[in-house]
Amino acid sequence: MIKQKYINHLRVSSGKKIHLKDFDTGWDQFEEFKEYGKDKLKEHANILLQQNLVDLTSAQQLLYADDRYSLLIIFQAMDAAGKDGTIKHVMSGVNPQGCQVFSFKKPSEEELSHNFLWRYMKNLPERGRIGIFNRSYYEDVLVVKVHPELIKNLPDANRNSEFWGDRYEDINSFERHLVRNGTVVLKFFLNVSKVEQKKRFMERLLRPEKNWKFSAADLSERAYWSDYMHAYEEAIRATNTESAPWYIIPADNKWVTRALVADIICSTLRGLDLKFPKLSDAQLKILDEARKILEAEG
Ligand code: ATP
Ligand code: MG
Repeated sequence: MIKQKYINHLRVSSGKKIHLKDFDTGWDQFEEFKEYGKDKLKEHANILLQQNLVDLTSAQQLLYADDRYSLLIIFQAMDAAGKDGTIKHVMSGVNPQGCQVFSFKKPSEEELSHNFLWRYMKNLPERGRIGIFNRSYYEDVLVVKVHPELIKNLPDANRNSEFWGDRYEDINSFERHLVRNGTVVLKFFLNVSKVEQKKRFMERLLRPEKNWKFSAADLSERAYWSDYMHAYEEAIRATNTESAPWYIIPADNKWVTRALVADIICSTLRGLDLKFPKLSDAQLKILDEARKILEAEG
């Protein structure tokens, strides 16, 4: 387990203004990390990740058996911050039957003709399951805030100065509803630096096997970097709640991101009062009889 003091540092404090510039994107945010050195820290992080992946496998089984909670994990980030890789690695040990990943792209015509939460509601995890949102309803207060021309077909009266505040409020109410119904909500912002994003884009351009990952749209969105940072700061501040917290995860080093995300997911599951269902006397009697029948077969 990663020490709580490091995790607390990533967990956003309620009610405070957020300046993403104050959050480190690299590996060396603590003096003791620097003293330890990058190579040793990386080795340690990878060992921790492996332990957490094993723990996650059994925690998921227990979540499924317990059948009272579900876990919704939201990933938001700028392009090339490593959402896909993090999801792939952190979920590599879990039973696919108990876990589903949804990637939300530009909404379809059908999706646009409903309320903005509709397409996400349809894909929420059932009890006992883990649902991962690769992008989410937060896009509706991020990309849509940076490009307000994306808002279509709304009554004029609703496009007022309260518009974004109202959307944050809708999101908070939605998440409160989920939490009250047994869904645990975890929100990760993978915080990659502009310099590292450039490096990753360049790799996608220069390495033929990575060419397919490059999209011209990613580059055009990069031009809006500071607008995005501002939109993230506002959205995170307005929607960070005790029951549905945001974590700002350094994302310039993939091993850092993966170790932290896995640890937070594991300790969140560990913090629930999960238990295997207790069988009633009548059920135990049925098991006992079944055992006797099988034993009688010789
Ligand atoms: P990858 O690039 O790794 O495949 P991705 O999540 O970036 O993953 P893309 O198809 O490149 O997927 O991009 C999806 C695009 O859809 C993003 O630019 C995102 O901002 C946009 N998008 C997602 N949700 C919405 C929304 N509600 N309204 C408008 N645009 C959205
Ligand atoms: Mg993309």
